[in-house]
Amino acid sequence: MVNILNYKSENFIISSYQKGKEIVLFFLSRNNTISTDKLPKTADTIEQVLPSVFNTTCYNDQGKCFKDEIKNTETAHLLEHLIIEFMVQKEKMRGNKITIKALTSWNWNKNPFGSFKITIKAPQVAKRSFKDSFNASISLMEKIFNQANGQPKQTVH
Ligand SMILES: [Zn+2]
Repeated sequence: MVNILNYKSENFIISSYQKGKEIVLFFLSRNNTISTDKLPKTADTIEQVLPSVFNTTCYNDQGKCFKDEIKNTETAHLLEHLIIEFMVQKEKMRGNKITIKALTSWNWNKNPFGSFKITIKAPQVAKRSFKDSFNASISLMEKIFNQANGQPKQTVH
């Protein structure tokens, strides 16, 4: 696996890799925030920034549409949908209509509590949109986390 991008904050840690045709992300939710039910501003924030994510198809256990699912789902599952929707939108702006498949999985018997694996299968051409989508998704996730946890910590220079 070739490492692509990494990110670390008070809220979560992410590393991403290229593995053959797939992009694999390892996501660790910190402070026990593993579900969006602890992040009450999730739906409102997404409505403002990326409402099209509500229309994405989601195959979850309960068969809920993503607009309902988003209120109580794993934080990594939210990240998965944000990244693929940003990629789809960025490709659309370039005149490319694409479909991306992704899956979020976890095994806390084997791996640390709060850790997830996200696997993204995107057409080769769409990989150029990954970096921007990764960064845009992180900004949005930080906004959602910080609204729930109070103001972000200030750095004194
Ligand atoms: Zn889903």
